[in-house]
Amino acid sequence: MPSEGTAEGQAEGPVPAPVVSLATRHVMQANRSVDTKPELRVRQALRERGLPGYRLHWKKAPGRPDVCYPGRRLAIFVNGCYWHHCAWCQMALPKSNVEFWRQKFARNRARDVRDANRLASAGWTVLVVWECRLAKGRFGPTMDEVALEVRRAGEGGPRAGRVVEVGSPAPWRLARARARIRRLRRSR
Ligand SMILES: [Zn+2]
Repeated sequence: MPSEGTAEGQAEGPVPAPVVSLATRHVMQANRSVDTKPELRVRQALRERGLPGYRLHWKKAPGRPDVCYPGRRLAIFVNGCYWHHCAWCQMALPKSNVEFWRQKFARNRARDVRDANRLASAGWTVLVVWECRLAKGRFGPTMDEVALEVRRAGEGGPRAGRVVEVGSPAPWRLARARARIRRLRRSR
């Protein structure tokens, strides 16, 4: 995960960086660090599935993916649901400095998409693994899917790059389902 210095907010946007509470600062720091707990679990699961030999935060790949297999041209991003603003979790913004946070998360999302697209257009398979897809009961199937993609990426010749959101229905599908539920509730 790229660094998340608070200076970024000051340099890029018109909204000044807010004075954050200790709790928020804690969340920011937790989300800024590399080698997060989900990342460690993913790496362990890859080793257990017989897929060692990955690189961590490899500088030569756009976005410095959390885990990547350069020879297979496969990159894995393990995204924290809060910091990367997971489409499934849709976590609420902090209650103060809403505009700052809205812009901050929008930039994070835009950067994620940009990095993934740069890799994909260079022929990489990009796996996006959301933290919530690693929850109890989901972890095994999610990692099986990851392992399958890693193995596939190592077979045969060059393939077209693509971005895969692992372990989930597509967000647009979920958005549709949510809208349907809302309509049903209203009609009652
Ligand atoms: Zn999530």
